[in-house]
Amino acid sequence: MGSPRLREVFTRIDAASARGKLPVCVFDLDSTLFSTAPRNLQILREFAREHAALHPELGAIAARMQVADMGWNVHDDLARAGVTDAGLLAAVKEFWKERFFQDEYLLHDHEVPGAAAFVETCHAKGALIYYLTGRHVGGMEIGSVQALRRRGFPFWLGRCVLHLKPDFDMDDRAFKDDAIADIRSYRGEVVASFENEPGNANMFLAAFPEALHVLLLTMHSPGAEPPRRELVRTDDFLLR
Ligand SMILES: [Mg+2]
Repeated sequence: MGSPRLREVFTRIDAASARGKLPVCVFDLDSTLFSTAPRNLQILREFAREHAALHPELGAIAARMQVADMGWNVHDDLARAGVTDAGLLAAVKEFWKERFFQDEYLLHDHEVPGAAAFVETCHAKGALIYYLTGRHVGGMEIGSVQALRRRGFPFWLGRCVLHLKPDFDMDDRAFKDDAIADIRSYRGEVVASFENEPGNANMFLAAFPEALHVLLLTMHSPGAEPPRRELVRTDDFLLR
C-alpha cells in the first residue's frame, strides 16, 4: 500500500524554492529505489547452474523460485525452499557474497514501482537529488550509474549527486552519519528522505526534523531498530 503523503514532497520542494532555498531530496538505492530480489535470484540461478553436476536437485528448486520468494539472504531463501545441506548453504552464501556487490549484477535490479517517475518529478521541480547508498567505491560505482539510467532515474543532468561508501568495510551507519555532514554542506533545505532501514530513517529524522522522512516497507536487515512513529510508511512510489 502506497502513501497519499508522497505528493507532499512536491509541495515542500515548491515551498523551499519559494523561500529561495535549494530543496534537497535524499534517496537510498537498495530496497528503496531498487528491488534487489532479481539480483539475488540471478545469483541463485547461476549457483544452481554451476553446481548442477554435484547437486542436480538445485536446478529444479532454482527454476521454481520467483522474485517474490527472495528475502534478506539467499541461503535462507534456499533453506525455506527445502535445502538442508549446511555445507551447500554455506557455499551459496560465499558465492552470493562474491557477486552481489559487483557492477554487472546491479543491472538485474528492478525499480520499486513508480520510483523513477517520482525522482524525475522532484528533479524537474528543482530539487537536488542526493542518491546515498552503502554500495562501495571500487566495484559498484559504474553499475550504479548504469542501473539508474537504465531504469529511467535522472542522472548526468546536473543537480544529481551519487554518494557511495568510500570502501567496502566501512560501517554502513557511520557512513550515513558522515553523509549528513556532506548534505548540510550544500546549505540547502532537506525536504525529504527515503530509506528502507528503520535505523537510517530514524537518523535522518533526528538530523532534519523539519523534513518528511519516508520509510520503504520493502525489506530491512534482521534485528533493525524500531522505526519512529513520525516516519511516513509506503511500499512504492505510486501517486494516489
Ligand atoms: Mg537500502
